[in-house]
Amino acid sequence: MLFLKKNKTRQHTKVNWKIKHNCLDLIIESAKSIYPNEFGALLRVDDQQKSIISEIILLPGTVQGETHTIFKLHMMPIDFNIVGTIHSHPSPFPIPSDADLELFRKHGRVHIIIANPYNHSSWKAYDYNGEEIKIEIV
Ligand code: ZN
Repeated sequence: MLFLKKNKTRQHTKVNWKIKHNCLDLIIESAKSIYPNEFGALLRVDDQQKSIISEIILLPGTVQGETHTIFKLHMMPIDFNIVGTIHSHPSPFPIPSDADLELFRKHGRVHIIIANPYNHSSWKAYDYNGEEIKIEIV
């Protein structure tokens, strides 16, 4: 009951997310350069346009391993423009793992996974619930 109620409230604040082209390019370049390790960062929206993801923030202490990225979320700056996470998968599958889903549920509203070969069509975005969402490139 409580769960359903929570979901309903969340739907009211549904955002049509967009991402800046140059921000996506930076994600692609960063993921490529750190391969075969995983790249992980936070997504930050524009100060004026709160639905447009315009920057990535590297979190101090983030462990970027071969099989997983560990976000040290207690290191997260107090910044209400941070809306979610981005991480890369060295595999060709941008599908959230169980650990990813747990992270999505706890922190943020929009999450991107970019998979090998790291290009404009090898990424997917998810909401807090792990449901795939569309993000428009602007
Ligand atoms: Zn993952």
